[in-house]
Amino acid sequence: MQQQIMPTLFVGHGSPMNALEDNPHTSSWRGLGEQLPQPRAILAISAHWYTRGTYVTANIRPPTLHDFHGFPPALYQCDYPAPGAPELTKEIQHLLQPLEVELGDDWGLDHGTWSVLMHMYPAAQIPTLQLSIDATRSPEFHYRLGQQLQPLRERGVLIIGSGNVVHNLARIDWREDAAVPSWAEGFNQTVRAALELGDHQSLIHYERAGHDAQLSVPTPEHYLPLLYIAGASTADDKVSFPTDGIELGSISMLTALFSPQAAR
Ligand code: ZN
Repeated sequence: MQQQIMPTLFVGHGSPMNALEDNPHTSSWRGLGEQLPQPRAILAISAHWYTRGTYVTANIRPPTLHDFHGFPPALYQCDYPAPGAPELTKEIQHLLQPLEVELGDDWGLDHGTWSVLMHMYPAAQIPTLQLSIDATRSPEFHYRLGQQLQPLRERGVLIIGSGNVVHNLARIDWREDAAVPSWAEGFNQTVRAALELGDHQSLIHYERAGHDAQLSVPTPEHYLPLLYIAGASTADDKVSFPTDGIELGSISMLTALFSPQAAR
């Protein structure tokens, strides 16, 4: 029997408070965990592990990192005790050759990963590891790494990118009825359309969206996880958007799921 090819997923994680909240976004994540084929392991590429060089976690028991400030105590008490997947690190190092991927022993699971997985896989039983994002490299580089990781999907690994397509903390509007600025709406739509068309060149060269891109991606770390997932997708995948919407005027919650089409 042929091994089932795993989908691959980009999630807009938004505020760390989503870990504790029950809202349309978190319930869509919960639904994904219930619907997707059960993975052998999860490889997460989170905006919050932004490094010089590329690292992979090798912890047997990755600690839950509370990598944020000024949130309610309940958020610091969150624990996501998923086991690590140290046996996968060699496969990842091999796939990404000739790049040298080092073992990152000072990391675990950051909130970009666990705030989403707490909803998707609340039992925390699936072995999970993270790959860091090299801050010194180009968008093309990150897209290519995603392509190189693609074979993991045939080996039962769910590759998740966690960031936000639009992420501008300086432009947050805390009002309940915050209007969505046209640059945020525009950039989110541009990315969504490129995903639908399979136009990955537009995703890689996102700066071509001009003013909308400058304001939506003032720094690239929350955008780049999307390029790993676009890279790990194939022309046979169908893309869908389990949730979307702009929160607080400047954070896009767009989630993109690439699912293999039924075998022909
Ligand atoms: Zn974040």
